[in-house]
Amino acid sequence: MALFETEALVLRSYNLAEADKIVVCLSRSSGLIRGVAKNCRKLKNRFGASLEPFTLINLTYFEKENQELVSFSQTEILKSRFNLSSDAAVLSGFSYMGDLLMDFSPPRQANDNLYRMALACFEAVSQSPADLEWVLRYFEVWLLKLEGFLPDLRVCANCQKAFSGEEQVYLGSDLSLRCSSCSLGRGTVISKHAHQQLRATEKLSPAKFAEETREVPIDIIKELAQLAYKVISRVLERTPRARPTFSPFIQ
Ligand SMILES: [Zn+2]
Repeated sequence: MALFETEALVLRSYNLAEADKIVVCLSRSSGLIRGVAKNCRKLKNRFGASLEPFTLINLTYFEKENQELVSFSQTEILKSRFNLSSDAAVLSGFSYMGDLLMDFSPPRQANDNLYRMALACFEAVSQSPADLEWVLRYFEVWLLKLEGFLPDLRVCANCQKAFSGEEQVYLGSDLSLRCSSCSLGRGTVISKHAHQQLRATEKLSPAKFAEETREVPIDIIKELAQLAYKVISRVLERTPRARPTFSPFIQ
């Protein structure tokens, strides 16, 4: 039996038997882990409170050979998001990010860039809940990028010519981007403005990205939300479990 300690973000928890929970976390040093927290529901104890979704914790757990579920033994709250628990939009955004992290992260594979990006997005929304939609767009782009599914935003996949930033581009069914002459008019059109916003995610933190794009028209948020929805559904071969906040616009 091996003992591990890591920083982790709680993504989801399920009740198990009378007093236990199954908890899914994205951890810094072991990636996605699923574990059993025994007796955490017996009393209103700190152990139980630390395992509420979206809490950032220091986690100590045991791992037995050939067992998928680890055993959570100790936790310490680093950051609670309890103050946001009555904000339905924020909670739905957090659930959406949490579900995508569970869908895209292979179990037990540390990915420090993904962990830091996810943490920065949860933190940006916590600091400024009004920026939720922009942070979600940022999160989607970076999740796809870090998992290797984001097309090259800078050059046409066919002729390799750099995009000028002043033209619309086309997303093909193979999930690559083409210039208008190479696309032959086929694929999903990405407007100049939406393409510029996609490129902006590459250079900025989520908080800075949201701050710098608050004045961008809502149509562009919708365009990016629809685009991400399309790409994510294609990669997962199904639609995301939690609908993004802009789902009314996504048919
Ligand atoms: Zn081209």
